[in-house]
Formats: sequence, structure tokens, C-alpha cells
Amino acid sequence: MIVVRTVDELRQVVSGWKAAGETVALVPTMGYLHRGHLSLITEARRAGAARVIVSIFVNPKQFGPGEDLERYPRNEARDRRLLEENGVDLLFAPETGTVYPSSHGAEVRVSGVSEPLEGSRRPGHFDGVVTVVLKLFNMAQPDIAVFGRKDAQQCAVVQQMVEDLNVPVRLVFGETIREADGLAMSSRNSYLDREGRETALALIHALRRGAAAAEAGADRRSVERSMSEELEKYPGAKLDYLRAVDPRTFLPAAAASDEWLLAGAIRVGTTRLIDNLIVRRPSRKAREEGNLSAVG
Ligand code: AMP
Repeated sequence: MIVVRTVDELRQVVSGWKAAGETVALVPTMGYLHRGHLSLITEARRAGAARVIVSIFVNPKQFGPGEDLERYPRNEARDRRLLEENGVDLLFAPETGTVYPSSHGAEVRVSGVSEPLEGSRRPGHFDGVVTVVLKLFNMAQPDIAVFGRKDAQQCAVVQQMVEDLNVPVRLVFGETIREADGLAMSSRNSYLDREGRETALALIHALRRGAAAAEAGADRRSVERSMSEELEKYPGAKLDYLRAVDPRTFLPAAAASDEWLLAGAIRVGTTRLIDNLIVRRPSRKAREEGNLSAVG
């Protein structure tokens, strides 16, 4: 595996690959890798990439004041080993000053889909995300870029940016990889002690209860209520939001739509965790029949 830290070196390697007609994929990460990240490498190969680049960059612009930038977990030696074992061709691990020299002034902003949920809880977060993602795209010029659906709203915001700015890259989204008990893998899980790790299950349990309600035809408010009720069973879990939204706009889910995204964020101590589930709703006819039989 080649390890590079500068844009010139990166471009040199990538242009060699492209000249040889090889399809190049980029998997952007903030490091402290887990199986969720590694699954995106597999997705890149499945999408036809002959060469896979993984970037590791803890992007200061996507952290708000008082968030966990300083304590965000880092272990480049371990990450390198994992990437080697998973057949990655190139690790791009730039210094902060390489990505943001002191002269840096440009910022990308996507309106609309970046505003609800994470956007309202973490002002400026998605501006930081799309700014660094567009920079990474321009640095590496990949044919394919892979992101995880665990960060569903991030996928939607990046997709909007790519469409709006005509960025010549094909986006691929990988499914959320979970621990055996359902907890979505996340670098931030490393902050949790044993008790916190137990409490963290509140989020997927709440989402699963909401999914069962939605799949049985419950309306949006009942689904959201059932998720909050489930969360209340875990005294250590603090609600940020648990919502049923439209998977494209992230606005409140419409009664008539047949696919909802259940999205949640909770705090366990000082650790903030997010997760989501896609649910397919019964047809309107089936819902009406279900209501009738419940009434009858
Ligand atoms: P991060 O290092 O947290 O910025 O994540 C880098 C990429 O990995 C993003 O596209 C995430 O959505 C994705 N990712 C993080 N956790 C998971 C997971 N559990 N399953 C699948 N993809 C994930």
C-alpha cells in the first residue's frame, strides 16, 4: 500500500492509474477504522474499482465548538495495518495544513436537505462535510466515491452537492454494519465504558420498535412516540431526536409515502450517537383494512 500525504503525490499516482485505464474509487474516512469502514472498500471493488484509495482526515471544519475534535480517536498505525490487510492501494493521510492552509477561504454549502435533523443540531456541520468532500474529490479525482448509509443525511447532502455542482463522480452507498447486538459500528463507540455500551443499545432498540410500528401501519406521530417510549426505558440515554422522515428530504414523513427513514440521535454521557433504519410501509389499502379490522 502506498501512503501519501501531499496532493501532488496523490495526483501523480492516480494519473498513472487512470492513464492505464483503471477505475479509481475513494473512500473518505476520519480513521480509527472498524468493519463499517472496511465494508466500504468491498463496496468499492463491487462497484468496479480496480484501485481503492482510503483517505484518513479528521476534518476540523465539520466539528462545532465544544464537540469532540480534540479527543476524536486516532491510531494511524492500526488503520494502516487494517487497510493493508484489506488490499487498499493507497492511503491518503494529509496534514491539516495541507487541506486547510492558512490562506483557505472557500466553503461549500448545500441548502435544503442539510438543514433538518443533524443540520439543525450541528450548525455548520454539513458545510464542513461537503467542503472537505469536494476538496477530496478534486484532490483524488476518483471515478467512484463510497459512503455509508449509517450517515444517511450525509449521503443525501453529498449527493445533492454532486448533482448541483456537476461533480464527475459516481456515488455508491454501503449498508450500515452493526455489532452482533445491533449497535451500529462507529469510531465514537470507543468512548463508551461498559455501562455506556449497554445504554447505547437504546438507539437501535428505539428505531426497531418504531420500525415495527411503521410496518404495522401506525401514523408518524405514533411511530415517533413509540420510539421515545422505548428510549425512556434506558435512564442513561438522553434523547436528541427520534424522527420518521422522508428519506430524500429528511422532512417529516408524509402519510402517503411507502418508504420512511427512521432517524435518531442520542447522548450517552458525553458521547453522541446516530443511527437510522429504512422502513417500508404497508400500502394505503392494507393500512385502511388494518384499521377497519382493528375497529371491528
Ligand atoms: P467516519 O470515519 O465516521 O467519517 O466514516 C467514514 C465513512 O464510513 C462514512 O461514509 C460513514 O458513513 C461510513 N461508516 C461509518 N460507520 C459505518 C457503519 N457502521 N457501517 C457502514 N458505514 C459506516
